Amino acid sequence: MNRAQRKQSRRPALKLKEAYRAPAWRTRRAQGVQILESCALENIPWLVHGFTLRPGGASVLDGKRVFNLGRTDWDTRENVLANRKKLLAALGAEKMLLVSQRQFHSALARVFDAPPVVALKGDAALTRTPGLLLAVLTADCVPILLVDTKRRAVAAVHAGWRGTLKRVAEKTLGKMRMTFGTRPRDVLAVLGPGIGRCCYEVGPEVAQAFHSQFAHAKDWFDGPFERLVSDDTPNPLQWLNMHPPGHQPPPPSVHLDLAAASRWQLESAGVPSANIFSSALCTACRTDIFFSHRAEFGKTGRLMGVVGIRL
Ligand SMILES: [Zn+2]
Repeated sequence: MNRAQRKQSRRPALKLKEAYRAPAWRTRRAQGVQILESCALENIPWLVHGFTLRPGGASVLDGKRVFNLGRTDWDTRENVLANRKKLLAALGAEKMLLVSQRQFHSALARVFDAPPVVALKGDAALTRTPGLLLAVLTADCVPILLVDTKRRAVAAVHAGWRGTLKRVAEKTLGKMRMTFGTRPRDVLAVLGPGIGRCCYEVGPEVAQAFHSQFAHAKDWFDGPFERLVSDDTPNPLQWLNMHPPGHQPPPPSVHLDLAAASRWQLESAGVPSANIFSSALCTACRTDIFFSHRAEFGKTGRLMGVVGIRL
């Protein structure tokens, strides 16, 4: 620990009011890579957090160096491990142990007090153990970090449309309450870069699935949501068949705001709206700085969001 870190660790715990007064984001540059940090979390001395950006790193995609943190068929295991090491160094967290799960679009939240021997399946990780850095891998899905500022507990959540539909953010918060006694009003929530409402076109089946689960679903969609979920057109194929062959208009589609759906879940579970911070950046609009599965037709890397308690 250097002098600056020692000084920081002696600082008293931050009052919640102070923590959310500065809702902006900033970029940390270190080790040849950049990490996006929420200013809402930056003054919590015991906390480590960040969201990686695309440029830099040991991996090469389409002739450019990229900071790929997840296993993909075009990259090597060695490159990914080198990038993960670089991430820990950039965060000043070399001694922390990364906990990364095998994500499968579920609402399964696991509590960790030690790193698992083999990677487990799950889409949310929780801990109150210092030295563990919880990770979520994304390339359009929304990474969510939850921080209980009073009980010093953290969680990292993977929220794509399937997980959001299964209320993964709300269930993770519920698990924090059950396991650590977390009170929602003590939680700061940071929603990192994911695909935005601008780019996330989804079909009728997604609109109908959200409509069946959430009374407020229409607030999270742009486009002919009402028409897609109304009882008059239960089957979109039927709608297509009304037109002669070769003259079908494109099937109706809507745009989904994934972050808004998770924000609503957290608010309805008691997290004050002033404690929730979303990145307005869209991964599909900005493939210069992010990875986007949708915009790059699957051939892309993985961003990593991390949160942990310093040793
Ligand atoms: Zn976009």
